[in-house]
Formats: sequence, C-alpha cells, structure tokens
Amino acid sequence: MLFDRIKGQESAVRILARALESGRMPTTFLFTGPSGCGRMGTALALAASFNCENSALACGSCQSCRLHISNSHPDLVIVRPPEGKRVIVIEQIRTLIERAYLMPLMGTTSTFIVDGAHLMNPNAANALLKTLEEPPATSRFILIAPDRDSVLPTVSSRCRILAFRPLSRSVMEALLEAEGIDKKRAALLASMARGSMARGLEYHREEIPERMAQEFGPLSSLHEAGPSRLLDLAKGWGKNRTEALKITELMAQWYRDILVLSEGAPREQLIHSSHLATLRTLAEELGSASLSMILESIEDAREDLENNTNVELTMDNLLFRLRKFGRTGQGNTLSREGF
Ligand SMILES: [Zn+2]
Repeated sequence: MLFDRIKGQESAVRILARALESGRMPTTFLFTGPSGCGRMGTALALAASFNCENSALACGSCQSCRLHISNSHPDLVIVRPPEGKRVIVIEQIRTLIERAYLMPLMGTTSTFIVDGAHLMNPNAANALLKTLEEPPATSRFILIAPDRDSVLPTVSSRCRILAFRPLSRSVMEALLEAEGIDKKRAALLASMARGSMARGLEYHREEIPERMAQEFGPLSSLHEAGPSRLLDLAKGWGKNRTEALKITELMAQWYRDILVLSEGAPREQLIHSSHLATLRTLAEELGSASLSMILESIEDAREDLENNTNVELTMDNLLFRLRKFGRTGQGNTLSREGF
C-alpha cells in the first residue's frame, strides 16, 4: 500500500487511513510541517486513495495509483509557484477553481494540491476561499504549508489541519542510506538537516559537510577577527545570494550547536560534535543570552537576503553585529580591560 512508503509520520497516516476507511473524509486538508518530511508523498497517497481501483487505501499498483504517484493522473492538479517565482498568483487559483467545478476525467474524485499554501498572495488565497466554503462534490483539496499561522486564518479555519513532524534522525539516516549515501555521511547529513529529507539531500548535493570543514576556520575565529578580516569574509561569503544563504545556514547550525551546548545538552544533540572543544570554548565565552541574539541576527540577515537586499552589505552588517559578542566584542573587551 502507498501509505506504507511514508516513513516517520505514523500518526498522520493513521488519521488519514481511519478517515478513508470510515468514509468520513474532510473535503479540505491543511498539511503542516517542515518541507521534506513527507507531506507531499502523503498528499499523493491520499489523492491516489480517492481513485484507487482496488481498495480504500491506495494499493500503489493499479493504473490509477501509478498515475497519481507519477503526477500524471488527469484528476490530479498540483499548484505551486511558477519556476523561479516565490508566489502563487490568482490566475493559477482561477484555473484550479474552473477545473474543480468540472467532473473528474478518469476517476471519481479530483484532487487539488496547493504545494505552498503560504505562498498564495492575498488575492489568490481569497479567491480559493470561496471554493473551500462550498466545495464541489467531486473535488478534494490538500493545502501544504510549514505551519497553520503561515496561511490566512480564513483559509486555515476551513481546513482539517494535519501536523507532520520533522523526521527523526534515525528515520532520516535510513532514508538517506536508501538513496545510496554511505552510513557515515548519512548520519552526518541527518544531524544537519533538522528533520527534512529535502534539506538532507540538498546538503548532500551541495557538499555542505565538506563546505563546513572548509569554513570551520573562519567560523570558529569570527569573534577574534579584526575589521579588515571581517570585510574580506563578507566579500567572500557575499559573492552572491545563493552563496550567502548557504553560509548563513552554516552559521545558524554552528551557533545552534554552541547554544545547545551552553544549555547543557548532551554531545549527541550536536551537529558538529567533532569540533566539541571549540564549541565548548565558544559556549563559555558567549553565553546563552548572546547566542540567542546571534541566532536572531542570523535569522534577520537570512530574511533580508531572501528579500533582495544588497548581499555584501547584508553580510557586512551581520558579521560586524556578531563581532560585538565574544572576545573582541565591546562588552567582554571592556570588562576584561577593567581588570
Ligand atoms: Zn490502486
């Protein structure tokens, strides 16, 4: 059965299976959770279940199921932002609605998956709202978003919300190994990717573990670096937006580790446990209050980068903000000079 292929989401799958078998199926679902944790796979399995030729829970082998899995079933419509865009616009939703009021072409039910419901602009969301209020009898809707609060309350209130958990490290490791990644690397990627298979595979593709080894020096000595060194780093790391987003992701990982350690969590919870001694020193020097502020600054910078600000300037600002904390930072330097 198709649902058996979904790993680490037992609770969500159980709820769906029960609803399918009882025949009491909500018209509209909102699947929430981090990207790459199984939301889309589950949405496809649910859509396939509606039209499966053999059973209430998609068998996975009939023609209808196979077409659903490969996203080529005529009664399956998936809407997401167009290539290179970050927004779902009203025209896309209008097309979806027109289709939703037509009879299914091959099966008994049409399924409409909005992959990125939080990316609908307000016009698009409002247009969809009317259809969700009075859904056509043969249409089902599955909205996918990181969390409930990221979509308009008027939309989420019309959905049955189903929460997906970040994948556990062991599930991630097994899934990454099944992709042909060796055990040691799978374990490292699983610890870095925070419950998202999509992120784990992306890190693998972009060689993030190697990248981390390469940037370890600059990252671990950031708080001792002088202004000219920081400007150099900002220049290197701010070459382009993709590069800057990647490095800020590494930074966030790095400081999250230090924070976790400063709060007394065991070594197993660290991503970069091979750098334990350095992490410990920094945890002692920075303290958890500063670390929270550092992580906030990194998050702000990432948001700015996503919003098309000047890349090098954003990196400059971030690095100089981070420098305020730690050894060469104002606070600590002053107190040390006082002795
Ligand atoms: Zn089937």
